[in-house]
Amino acid sequence: MTYVCLLCDAKEKIPYAVVREFDRMDEGDPSVPPMFSCEKCGAQMYPEYYKGIHGIEYRLSDMK
Ligand SMILES: [Zn+2]
Repeated sequence: MTYVCLLCDAKEKIPYAVVREFDRMDEGDPSVPPMFSCEKCGAQMYPEYYKGIHGIEYRLSDMK
């Protein structure tokens, strides 16, 4: 899966299984997907596209 930094547009590949695991453990707000910190600037990274375990679809284009 490709994650993109919301601040500097850096891209990072994160294995789907890792994202899934984060999603499964996260009991927080279901309106946000599992997010990771950008290695370059520390801002949050958003998935280009991800369908979460609750069936919610997240798209980077919704954030821009
Ligand atoms: Zn960044």
